[in-house]
Amino acid sequence: MNLPLTDSGLFDIDLIRRYDKSGPRYTSYPTAVQFHEAFTEDDYRAAAERSNALGGPLSIYTHIPFCDTVCYYCACNKVVTKDRGRAQPYVDDVVNEITLHGRLFGEGRRVDQLHWGGGTPTFLSNDQMRQLMAGIGQNFALKTDDTGEYSIEIDPREADARTIAVLRELGFNRISLGVQDFDARVQEAVNRIQSVAETRIVMDAARAEGFHGISLDLIYGLPHQTRDSFMKTLDTVIDMAPDRLSMFNYAHLPTRFKPQRRINTDELPNAAEKLRILGGSIERLAEAGYVLIGMDHFAKPTDPLAIAQQNGTLHRNFQGYSTHAECDMVAVGVSSISQVGGAFSQNTKDLTAYHTAVAAGRLPIERGYVLTAEDHLRRRVISDLISHFEVDFIAINQNYGIDFKNHFSAALQELAPMQIDDLVTIQADSIKVLPRGKLLIRNICMAFDEYLSLEGMQRFSKVI
Ligand code: SF4
Repeated sequence: MNLPLTDSGLFDIDLIRRYDKSGPRYTSYPTAVQFHEAFTEDDYRAAAERSNALGGPLSIYTHIPFCDTVCYYCACNKVVTKDRGRAQPYVDDVVNEITLHGRLFGEGRRVDQLHWGGGTPTFLSNDQMRQLMAGIGQNFALKTDDTGEYSIEIDPREADARTIAVLRELGFNRISLGVQDFDARVQEAVNRIQSVAETRIVMDAARAEGFHGISLDLIYGLPHQTRDSFMKTLDTVIDMAPDRLSMFNYAHLPTRFKPQRRINTDELPNAAEKLRILGGSIERLAEAGYVLIGMDHFAKPTDPLAIAQQNGTLHRNFQGYSTHAECDMVAVGVSSISQVGGAFSQNTKDLTAYHTAVAAGRLPIERGYVLTAEDHLRRRVISDLISHFEVDFIAINQNYGIDFKNHFSAALQELAPMQIDDLVTIQADSIKVLPRGKLLIRNICMAFDEYLSLEGMQRFSKVI
């Protein structure tokens, strides 16, 4: 159900204040907090065998960690360096890692989804990107008819029209551009100086090359932002007419993310101003015709993501929302997380350890997790809530052999106050998220999370 943002009662400041607590973003369930180091390469091999027994298409994620300069708000796994010479040995290692995975999965597995993220993927030269894509193509069946969802994250400061043409030639058809904010004072405070002109050049080039689902990323809650300043950025962005927009809430966690220590806490907008920014943005995006498709993501109603949300075919994974059915994801590069055969497996974050493992012919796995039957069930419920704003008890009962109301009686009790607040409606055979509950979808999902504890929750960002 895509409701226009305005008439929906989506934004209720008092309600949001009451529910504003820390919680996971549920790009996975269980979250990475549950991963442990007892998970080994043998566990991953067993997971790959389970995946092969079921067959089906794959998703491939490649992490390129390098960035030329650091953005102070950044919470990504990255390596900040001006030494471009570091890229080639890394690309060689990643191609070797892909080859190790290729041996486990065989050539027949079609790649429906592919994503390069970072860091900054275009830190690599055009030839290095060609080498990387060729490495993937030699080990997995890449689609050549443009029907896959092949996407890449772009920092417009690190790309031009020529780069975009090369990416299209390599088979990419989706692109997301990092912007965050165009305000000069904000950019200076977060050490990310990026002009409107350089963003527009990349955006126009992507359109001319036939990319679709063009997405822009913004962040609210950065230093010096006010409702008025952010509306100016939003107007510029709306004028660029992206198909999709992500608007993330900046989570200031300087004890976990070192670059954030360079952000002056006194310059951050207070909670009331952040809510004004969010409320103003929702209004402005509604006027411009965008709909909320799920947590932090907006799209034009004609965009395939918005249509999929309406049809109940939207999916969510580590990279956000997708129109492609959930596939097993093979992830390569430092810190990347694979999701294969009912298990998560995360690579080491350390470049030296990564190189040593791959050079020795070992998968560079640091930790992981094998899902239990209960995890699978709860993951399905959380995924239905986050992607479709609805859970159908009968479908769950049939698939998992449970009685939903019995099995989740504690969760349903937790949802009872949310029903009174009109966030959800609990019916005889379903839970439906109401418009007021959409922005608080994380709170609703948390009722079904078996692992949440106060200590664990402090690791996560605030829900708004
Ligand atoms: S936000 Fe992106 S470009 Fe900036 S440091 Fe982080 S990964 Fe690099």
